[in-house]
Amino acid sequence: MFFNNLTIFQYCLLLLPGTTFATQISPRSCSNCSCVVAEKLGPKLSPGASFSFSTTAAPRWSEFDAPDPGLIVDVATESDVQITVQYCNENNITFLAQNGGHGWGQTFHLSLEGLLINLSGLNSTTFNAAKTEATIQGGALVRGVVDAAYSNGAQIPTGNCNCVGALGAILGGGFGRLMGLYGLGVDNLLALNVVTANGTQIKVTPETETDLWWALRGAGPNFGIVTSAVITSYPVSSAENGAWVGSFVFSETQIEEVVEAISALDLLPEMAVFLYYAISDGSPVVLVSGSYAGANNSDGPNAFASITALGPEVEQAAWEPFNEVNAAGDSFCVKGGYKPAYGAGLAELVPSTWRSIWNEFVDFVAINGTTASTVMVDCYPMEKSRSLPDSSSSYPWRSTINCNAAAIPWYDDASLNAAAVSFGKTVRSLWFETSGTPGDETYINYAVGDESYSVVYGDNLATLESLKSIWDPLKRFDQFFPL
Ligand SMILES: Cc1cc2nc3c(=O)[nH]c(=O)nc-3n(C[C@H](O)[C@H](O)[C@H](O)COP(=O)(O)OP(=O)(O)OC[C@H]3O[C@@H](n4cnc5c(N)ncnc54)[C@H](O)[C@@H]3O)c2cc1C
Repeated sequence: MFFNNLTIFQYCLLLLPGTTFATQISPRSCSNCSCVVAEKLGPKLSPGASFSFSTTAAPRWSEFDAPDPGLIVDVATESDVQITVQYCNENNITFLAQNGGHGWGQTFHLSLEGLLINLSGLNSTTFNAAKTEATIQGGALVRGVVDAAYSNGAQIPTGNCNCVGALGAILGGGFGRLMGLYGLGVDNLLALNVVTANGTQIKVTPETETDLWWALRGAGPNFGIVTSAVITSYPVSSAENGAWVGSFVFSETQIEEVVEAISALDLLPEMAVFLYYAISDGSPVVLVSGSYAGANNSDGPNAFASITALGPEVEQAAWEPFNEVNAAGDSFCVKGGYKPAYGAGLAELVPSTWRSIWNEFVDFVAINGTTASTVMVDCYPMEKSRSLPDSSSSYPWRSTINCNAAAIPWYDDASLNAAAVSFGKTVRSLWFETSGTPGDETYINYAVGDESYSVVYGDNLATLESLKSIWDPLKRFDQFFPL
């Protein structure tokens, strides 16, 4: 009790009264301060666990408003997570779990007084004998899950970027190029092993903890740390375990017809379509990418014939084994720099809006040092996910959102922050004006945190707040769109 309300550093001072504050506010090189916490916590953890004092040990996708912990615990076992949470609770230390480090919401407030639980050591993906179920550990990245699925002759619904935390994405809903076939990530979960706010480790299933099961699948980071998840895996023959992927660069003069053609696409379950504004060879370009899962045949090219008929300036298309299909997004994965992204959920794409956004994009990327910036939207066939009722999980926008859009300013010079934020907010406003949804709606994993929380949690907000008061009354999980 005595240690309540002490920061890591005050706690260290108490334990090491001879240590000067000056040495303690430099935990990155500190051998006394955070190390004291490490010394106290270390013996409780498994032999494989370790500590870091530099955020380079657990780099994030964006440094904009990023968590800045004084101590990083690199856990090696699922029990390490539980023990660390218990330790933090006993000593009133703020903590945050990190998986892929791609969360771009601006609600993180972990400071040097706080502790980061780096889940990256928990990265296994294992299968049952029939390959119909997989167990993904809490720190596995999309790349690891896709690779494991492919080498086991199966597919698992994940996000489209290799670097993202597999469960980081799924716990907010989980969109990916296979969702027309399998539904949202949350729809495929079968059981979750969770460290809850009071430091207990429980197995959550639809039968055991019905309310928590519902809450975790859409608002997961508010309710616990998922140390591993059992998820449906779909056996697929090697001939069918791939996708046709096409990329098409268009002139900006074609924006309206490109947007109309994407809107008119008959999105079959195997398909996903992406539209980007980006810089290529020094110039802003309009890029469409299409994906069609299945065997190497003419289905993919046929499905996107209306796009290719528009006469792209550059065209690249190939069938790829499924463990390679995300590779095109690897440049998007680069960590570091500032990327204050702003997202919106869309029911439809409106050509005039996309023209206005193009103008904003061109103006922003004219600023020196911003050429990695992008504007993007991912659209998916939603029928499979809509075969489940809205009430099946706490992901709130199952019936309305067809596409997730994001404006991603990307730069290294912090003096551009204000211009970047202004650009992101302007683009988001343009999307919201013509989103086609009943109100402003944003997939939590594309949200920022300055939105009203009903934009993120929808009509589930009150129920989630009520469950939060049961499962996390002291608000230990208070970093990610905190309820
Ligand atoms: C380049 C890029 C590509 C993306 N592609 C997709 C995509 O294809 N589909 C999609 O749906 N989303 C996508 N997103 C959005 C992505 O889902 C979110 O950014 C997500 O929050 C990232 O998870 P993470 O584990 O990488 O990040 P982190 O910052 O590590 O985690 C984000 C939040 O989730 C919590 N969290 C992570 N793991 C766990 C866990 N095991 N248990 C409990 N809480 C946990 C963290 O504590 C944190 O609060 C993409 C984002 C980026 C930047």
